[in-house]
Amino acid sequence: CLVASTNRGCKAMFISGGATSTVLKDGMTRAPVVRFASARRASELKFFLENPENFDTLAVVFNRSSRFARLQSVKCTIAGKNAYVRFCCSTGDAMGMNMVSKGVQNVLEYLTDDFPDMDVIGISGNFCSDKKPAAVNWIEGRGKSVVCEAVIRGEIVNKVLKTSVAALVELNMLKNLAGSAVAGSLGGFNAHASNIVSAVFIATGQDPAQNVESSQCITMMEAINDGKDIHISVTMPSIEVGTVGGGTQLASQSACLNLLGVKGASTESPGMNARRLATIVAGAVLAGELSLMSAIAAGQLVRSHMKYNRSSRDISGATTTTTTTT
Ligand code: ADP
Repeated sequence: CLVASTNRGCKAMFISGGATSTVLKDGMTRAPVVRFASARRASELKFFLENPENFDTLAVVFNRSSRFARLQSVKCTIAGKNAYVRFCCSTGDAMGMNMVSKGVQNVLEYLTDDFPDMDVIGISGNFCSDKKPAAVNWIEGRGKSVVCEAVIRGEIVNKVLKTSVAALVELNMLKNLAGSAVAGSLGGFNAHASNIVSAVFIATGQDPAQNVESSQCITMMEAINDGKDIHISVTMPSIEVGTVGGGTQLASQSACLNLLGVKGASTESPGMNARRLATIVAGAVLAGELSLMSAIAAGQLVRSHMKYNRSSRDISGATTTTTTTT
């Protein structure tokens, strides 16, 4: 049912001229926790690390971890005598957790000269923040921050999605925006980004546990052209993906990356394949949002699930041609 639905969203997008994605930011983070004997000393570390005059030296030390790691920023938060230092760096086409961790290790060793009283409690102090719901990723971003948009013509909304522009805009406001606010949501201002993120992550050899923050998404819908057409966008600040390393080398996953034209290291520019994969994730999420929201607006959610999920048909040899609109 999910594949059929997302395919329907893709169809509506394709007929309307496709979608446009912009990568707003690209940087992986790691934040160790270190302890001092006093809050004053912890604060001195913060001032040292955040002093622009020290950045170049820190970057030289950090970047030794890999020819692809490039330090972008250092942000330090204090909790009493403890400092949480969030390092952010570009990682080429790798998702980058190993790379960033190695760079952090280099800097921590370097810091022992000026801060011999610093006690490294853990290479990860959870301000990173990896695989946990956290506002820091929602606000600052982690991995690739992507915004993806499309304009769907009114007639396509009617014919393919079986609903209206006005119904979609109203549902988006009351469900994805107000409803998620009522629920006290953290980055969950969407209908089901996580469904699509999980599927694409597993298919392309990503770390599915990073679905937690990679699925953070705000879906916006607005009537345009005097209410005839709809502008839809998904903004996703923390898509953590890579096209080298980890599970990307497995046979099926590698084949899927190849199919998408983003397998391995980019020969044009390091990081280009991973950024493109992030835009593909966002585009697929947009298709999923479009179709599920339409099904709910048209009151078809339960009926389509009963039809497709409970189907006794053998789908083991199914291809995309078997998908039908809900
Ligand atoms: P991660 O850092 O995502 O955990 P790895 O530890 O597997 O992944 O690191 C990626 C490895 O791939 C590194 O050894 C790096 O030198 C290598 N590599 C080759 N080409 C690239 C590329 N274009 N971008 C990033 N890493 C690359």
